[in-house]
Amino acid sequence: MKTIHAGIAAVVLTFISGTSVMAQQPLPTVAVLATGGTIAGTAEQASQTTGYKPGVLSAQALVASVPALDKVARINAEQVANVGSDNMDNSLLLKLAKRVNTLLQDKDVSGVVITHGTDTLEETAYFLNLVVKSDKPVVVTGSMRPATAIGADGPSNILQAVSVAASPEAKGRGVMIVLNDQIGAARFTSKTDANSLDTFKSFGAGALGRLVNQQPYFDNRVARQHTLQTPFDVSKLESLPKVDIIYGYQNDNGYMYDAAVAHQAKGIVVAGVGAGSESNFVIPSIRKAIEQGVIVVRSSRTGGGYIPADDAYPGLLGDNLNPQKARILLMLALTVSQDPAQVQAMFRQF
Ligand code: ASP
Repeated sequence: MKTIHAGIAAVVLTFISGTSVMAQQPLPTVAVLATGGTIAGTAEQASQTTGYKPGVLSAQALVASVPALDKVARINAEQVANVGSDNMDNSLLLKLAKRVNTLLQDKDVSGVVITHGTDTLEETAYFLNLVVKSDKPVVVTGSMRPATAIGADGPSNILQAVSVAASPEAKGRGVMIVLNDQIGAARFTSKTDANSLDTFKSFGAGALGRLVNQQPYFDNRVARQHTLQTPFDVSKLESLPKVDIIYGYQNDNGYMYDAAVAHQAKGIVVAGVGAGSESNFVIPSIRKAIEQGVIVVRSSRTGGGYIPADDAYPGLLGDNLNPQKARILLMLALTVSQDPAQVQAMFRQF
């Protein structure tokens, strides 16, 4: 009996001291970097989910619209840009990546959230996945409805993104995309629908986890290497090698490839039909580009699946990256090697 009482007392003491220690612990600090997009967009009418102006609200206004953040983290909000993500470019990517790396070196910063337009969000997220030099959580979020809309999804997405960035369990999972209760890996998550709230899907690998009651629950890790495991160092880069994407379709034209070479493209991603097939109309121009030192990578316009080796089609294999993500990896690969074999190996690794 005595032992039982002592045991209960110990549990109660642990519980009490546990709670009091927890109560004294400061909330983690999460940096929120705003870049624009619909999440910062406003429209005349609450009914409008199109025809609004993206990138209007400031980083501070976005954070202020979510009072519940007070219970999750201490927030440092910063404006990095205020653009629709159709206007994200390589120089903004580099600026953002450098800022994220600087912030994550600060021992007081537990994680970073980036608010971003959804249209090219997956490109920025995958870029960061390859160049962030920290295992602290980095989360990219956005919204499908502007801040002024009935049922705006931005505030909930910001709260969820910060909850993930503040979670110790989110460490070491690579850069994540959080929207609409889903936690996806940047490597595998893409926008799949132009209008729906449920637009980000993790094809080929499944989601990393979900949020319930705004709390993250993790189930998976990605096997592909990321962040600290990559050779990519953006700290001294002022620009990225030019890589273009050329779409495959019936009756397509070789002159698109000739034009890319004439415009000094160092790499070309073919958004090929099916499993990265190229038509007889474009193959001569692709071969010419390769002879001139351009690295060509085959990907699929279908949005899913692997590219198998096939001697009939010139170019490296883009693994199962969609064309826009293959472009991101090819740009970074070309900053460390022009050797086709080494570039090919990176498409398996990352
Ligand atoms: N056009 C917007 C953008 O990508 C769409 C969005 O944020 O959902 O910036």
